[in-house]
Amino acid sequence: MDDVMEPGGSSNDITESIPDNADKALDTPAPEPQPDPLTAKYGEIIAILIRSEYIALEQVEYAERIRKKLPSPKPLLEILKELKYITDGRVREAIRTNRVSLRIGSLLLELGYISADDLQAAFEIQAGDKSKKLGEILVSQNYIDERKLVEILSLQLGFRYVELEFTHIDRLIFAAAPVKFYEKHNFIPIRKEDDYVLVAFADPLDQRDIGAAREVFGRKIIPAFALKSEINAAIEKIKRGAQARRSIDMDEDSIAGLVNGIIIAALENRVSDIHIEPLQDRLRVRFRQDGVLLHHKDFPVDAAQAMTSRIKIMCQADIAEKRRHQGGRIFFDHTGGQLDLRVSFYVTVYGEKIVMRLLNRKGQLLELSQIGMLPRMLDRFRDEALISPSGVLIITGPTGSGKTSTVYSCINHINSPQISIITAEEPVEYIIDGIAQCSINPKINLTFEETLRHIVRQDPDVIVIGEIRDNYSAEVAVHAALTGHKVLTTFHTEDSIGGLIRLLNMDIEAFLISSTVVCVVAQRLLRKVCPSCEMPYQPTSKDFQFLSYAPTELLGANFKKGRGCGQCRHTGYLGRTGVFELLILDELVRNAILERKTSHEIRKISVESTGLVTLFEDGIVKAADGITTIDEVLRCLPKLQKPRPLSTLRRLVGA
Ligand SMILES: [Zn+2]
Repeated sequence: MDDVMEPGGSSNDITESIPDNADKALDTPAPEPQPDPLTAKYGEIIAILIRSEYIALEQVEYAERIRKKLPSPKPLLEILKELKYITDGRVREAIRTNRVSLRIGSLLLELGYISADDLQAAFEIQAGDKSKKLGEILVSQNYIDERKLVEILSLQLGFRYVELEFTHIDRLIFAAAPVKFYEKHNFIPIRKEDDYVLVAFADPLDQRDIGAAREVFGRKIIPAFALKSEINAAIEKIKRGAQARRSIDMDEDSIAGLVNGIIIAALENRVSDIHIEPLQDRLRVRFRQDGVLLHHKDFPVDAAQAMTSRIKIMCQADIAEKRRHQGGRIFFDHTGGQLDLRVSFYVTVYGEKIVMRLLNRKGQLLELSQIGMLPRMLDRFRDEALISPSGVLIITGPTGSGKTSTVYSCINHINSPQISIITAEEPVEYIIDGIAQCSINPKINLTFEETLRHIVRQDPDVIVIGEIRDNYSAEVAVHAALTGHKVLTTFHTEDSIGGLIRLLNMDIEAFLISSTVVCVVAQRLLRKVCPSCEMPYQPTSKDFQFLSYAPTELLGANFKKGRGCGQCRHTGYLGRTGVFELLILDELVRNAILERKTSHEIRKISVESTGLVTLFEDGIVKAADGITTIDEVLRCLPKLQKPRPLSTLRRLVGA
């Protein structure tokens, strides 16, 4: 009862009388009150008093005669009271028993709280805006004090007044109807009281609103009264609470489940990266699959914070830090084993964008024969480059070109119990049995430099340097090769010749480069045509133009394209293949380096003397075999010179 205001101290009889009253009152249908002659002449309350035989018609007629003679207007009920024909108590009693037929406007008028002009003005405002309740208008127009209205409705009519601000609303009962319904009918259910539902109405005399409440809660309702502004505020509060709860509901368990669900979905779909990014109105999750970002799922924007915190816990990042970029590592246990994720938090205007790179994925470690090198190129790479006991082997390409996978395939290929392989990687992306892999961790001062200083003292046969990023790592690679080690490393350049030029520009002596570098492999990953929906493709004149080919130069090609199907998520592509440019240095190229020739000249010599097939040409061969498409070749591969005819290329790579 603490939340119910019972003005006038007569709370007991009010509450006790309500259920009966309510039930009885609401049993009767809600007709528009038909103004009978008595009501029309004397008003609703007096008509009730006469019909209830609380006063006699003659007394009313006498009072009416007095009223007409008064210099200033006075409510008839006032005169009846002054004449002691009726008491306040009897009026209240009559009103309460008959309140179903009363309307708030005439009630206030007859009780003398408002004037007929005020009421008329309020009616006019209401006619202009039907959503407004009469009581609300009377209050907002200052025709009646809000507290007075409360008092009249509660004291005179016996409606309980509910201060919603301090009232707990039973959410289960509230959930019985849509929010819009409450908004339309200006009421809010509060709680169950025995078999009854206590319902606060903005106008407990409005039979349409009462009828609406009965539709939802049945006959057994206790109509109470609350200010419309408070009803609106309470409804808003619940709406907001529901939104907040949606995120609170994602408590630790469910948030953890959500995050795990995303990682597992990525794992099952050959995804390389997970992007979780807060946008203005949602949290978007996308997967990079076969090199292309695809939409995975959206989450409510309120989930962002909890998900970010959860991922930060998983990778031991700083939860409290939200204004700086961060990184971390997750070792994720799942039924198929352990997944390794490298996580990056990047601060954006809408919050932290999270990218998780999936390392150590199932099927990531490919046999050398599976990486996509065509037969003759593969043979040369294996038998002329990888086999050499010392020297630097460089795999080059931009981020996401698959060079790390190729390095692992190489390591896997040369791995044997007779040799010692040691790595410095940032980070270790795939653990291979039998080799000593070190993950660079600058956080604990395990830096690249520090690691490389120690690596040669480990008596290795093969050194794997994750990436040549600076002068120092380039020097280490070259000097290790000079002292008889085989060095495998990666570089971040467009093509194979670019790798050599970069080394030259890193202040490494040309003679050191020419005498230590065995080969440079440039690579890219191209999407493969989906085998489920592939169909032959006839190149257009535009295709020939973009490819720089005359149609006769592509004779014998079987171009294909995927139509798009459920298997490939309607992209026409499924999986990826490597495209390679293999430069094995020969005397002519070594001399060109010593003479510090331009990249154009070195390229020309490489193509002429070493049998180098460019990335673009290797792509053409694969497109002509229906493995990938012309579109992919044009999208992903640099075209540095006019490609040679298909027949020539096929001979060179052994396709
Ligand atoms: Zn398909």
